[in-house]
Amino acid sequence: MTTAAPDAPATAPATEPMTFPVIPVMPTEHPLEAPRLAPLEVVPGRALYKQILPGIVQAPLDLLLAAGRKSSLWPMTFGLACCAIEMIATYMSHYDLDRFGIVPWPSPRQSDVMIVAGTVTKKMAPAVKLLYDQMPNPKWVISMGACATNGGPYTRYDRVLQGVDKIIPVDVYVPGCPPRPEALLDSLLALQELVMEERGSTGR
Ligand code: SF4
Repeated sequence: MTTAAPDAPATAPATEPMTFPVIPVMPTEHPLEAPRLAPLEVVPGRALYKQILPGIVQAPLDLLLAAGRKSSLWPMTFGLACCAIEMIATYMSHYDLDRFGIVPWPSPRQSDVMIVAGTVTKKMAPAVKLLYDQMPNPKWVISMGACATNGGPYTRYDRVLQGVDKIIPVDVYVPGCPPRPEALLDSLLALQELVMEERGSTGR
């Protein structure tokens, strides 16, 4: 019986010192061309107001006013018929109009949006005009539902106004009989866009 000889101890291979390639030094620019290739010297904050108030934010005033208006629309709580029930539902917590800054307000004196929600009879028309007159400028009108827009199911009734835009200007129309709260919410968002679009005009 034969036995294997023990392994010889491992020895590290001999290392040689590392050598790096020599990078040739590039010649400098031509003395006549060097000034033309020098980096531009920028002097920051030349405007005086930027030196006095560094970090100031610039924005047009009409943009700021329009952003303030569109984020604080106050519709008057005012309903005429069954569409008003959907309008009331839209004001409830499920739809959370407050997140858009929309707050229902029980007086025309501080409201800037009139939502005409329901059938406008000729008997009611003078009251609608009076309430619109009592609202301060700028103000906007949403015609909610088929009745307010064109008489709806009552187009053949002589005592029903065939659209509230016959007596006051309307900015947004909401179709439906009655429109769902989502439709009214959509019209309010459309009105917000309109407020931003007409920020430069002086018509209101
Ligand atoms: S549009 Fe329809 S739901 Fe709205 S007020 Fe007229 S009849 Fe009623």
